[in-house]
Amino acid sequence: IRIKSAEIYGERVTKVGTVVVLEDITDLKKLEKMRSQFVANVSHELKTPLTSIKGFSETLKFVKDDETRNKFLDIINDESERLTRLINDILTLSTIEQTKTAKHEEIDVAKETEQVYHLLLPKAESKNITLNLTQKEPILLYGDRDNYKQLILNLVDNAIKYTKESGEVRIQLDKQENNLRLVIEDTGVGIPEKHISRIFERFYRVDKARDRAMGGTGLGLAIVKHIVLSMGGTIDVVSEIGVGTRFTILIPIRSLE
Ligand code: ADP
Repeated sequence: IRIKSAEIYGERVTKVGTVVVLEDITDLKKLEKMRSQFVANVSHELKTPLTSIKGFSETLKFVKDDETRNKFLDIINDESERLTRLINDILTLSTIEQTKTAKHEEIDVAKETEQVYHLLLPKAESKNITLNLTQKEPILLYGDRDNYKQLILNLVDNAIKYTKESGEVRIQLDKQENNLRLVIEDTGVGIPEKHISRIFERFYRVDKARDRAMGGTGLGLAIVKHIVLSMGGTIDVVSEIGVGTRFTILIPIRSLE
């Protein structure tokens, strides 16, 4: 609680009383704590690849054999790519957070989803994963087109990432009452029950080492949640270890106001 007080004086400089304002700043404090936690996490996440890049590049000049040199160069390249992904995700998150006036672009759901599908198809094929897209009817949404694409991209990218070779990833789009229903389903590793409530937190990973090795930044689902909420929607997850995961998103279809 923050206390502010002021003394009140009458006409002849006689004190007539004191006003005390008690302000509940619990939420403010919580927000401040979350912010500084986020900054600490960001710094840590950025430092890890930087430390590798510095270490390997410094050692490189003492390495004589080509095989080891190439190995080191690959590590430096991978870690630079990780840094780029991290910075991009941090910027995306901060842009979504700061945008006060929501865009009202027309989103042709089928067209935009198909673009993401084609973008990720090579990644699925490289793991021999079947990527399926079914859309029953044309749907128009009004909102931020880039955000909509980012939402699909992050979910389908995760589905491919956390599914083993020869698995299957399905994207389904349809209308449910006055909502767009988007289902992204995989036959992947699944998410343990006790982690489900936390996967939308920034930098939260179920298995730190495994998920980092997969190339993730730990920000993908935080971005997804932000976008869904900004569109007035909801997101639901059902998962079973070793069987797969299903994300269901409902976004209200609003007409142009
Ligand atoms: P990351 O960049 O590490 O993938 P995300 O925020 O996208 O981070 O996801 C958070 C965590 O949730 C991941 O690290 C992973 O453990 C888990 N996860 C997300 N999507 C899936 C999925 N389709 N199947 C299994 N686990 C998943």
